[in-house]
Amino acid sequence: MSDLADALAAVRARIERAERAAGRDPGSVRLLAVSKTWPAADVAALAALGQREFAENKVKELVAKAEELAHLDLRWHLVGQLQRNKAPAVVGLGAVVQSVDRVSLVERLAGVAERADVVTEVYVQVDLGGPEGRTAARGGVAPEHVVELADAVAAQPALQLRGLMAVAPREGAPGPAFEQLAGLAARVRADHPGAVELSAGMSADLEEAVAAGATVVRVGTALFGDRALASGAGP
Ligand SMILES: *Cc1c(COP(=O)(O)O)cnc(C)c1O
Repeated sequence: MSDLADALAAVRARIERAERAAGRDPGSVRLLAVSKTWPAADVAALAALGQREFAENKVKELVAKAEELAHLDLRWHLVGQLQRNKAPAVVGLGAVVQSVDRVSLVERLAGVAERADVVTEVYVQVDLGGPEGRTAARGGVAPEHVVELADAVAAQPALQLRGLMAVAPREGAPGPAFEQLAGLAARVRADHPGAVELSAGMSADLEEAVAAGATVVRVGTALFGDRALASGAGP
């Protein structure tokens, strides 16, 4: 428990320093705790320390933890790829979907949310890998198609477009990629003023993301530890 408390304090301090260094208001960046591979007990322990928002990259794990911890009233986000047939499970939890990367998924999510009479919050995931690094592995829509996908989300009354999400490319400095993402976010925001969120930055590069304007950082390892040591094993 005290390890987790120390880790949370350290991550919060990093975010604060990065906000200050970027001349941004304190508290303008939210911390999303990525609990993938870690047991629900660790999520509960972090929640007891005041952390309210958590993310998973697999639907099955998301559903299991959200149901086990339903009494804690946490906010859950999906940050991994979503297959259309799993949309009902995610919508049913009231989770935020940060990994929307194709029109067919937009239509499926909208249909499911509409039938459930809920509004699902959505981020468009951008692939910052560049043409040669672009693979289906991490998901995300190519930068040149972000605006049209954002328009498709915004056209659905059962979806609320919250902003953009991305992972830095595997190779090279994250800063320029995050700046490119921020530029795309500004373009989307010009047409959709409610799309205020920019979800970027992980344990290794949250400072660069905050400098580029991230409003949400997604941190796993720096909070919970090395995933290779998690009991569930495998990312
Ligand atoms: C695992 C994951 C994170 C957290 O990564 P860390 O390096 O452990 O902080 C953030 N975003 C996504 C999409 C992830 O899959």
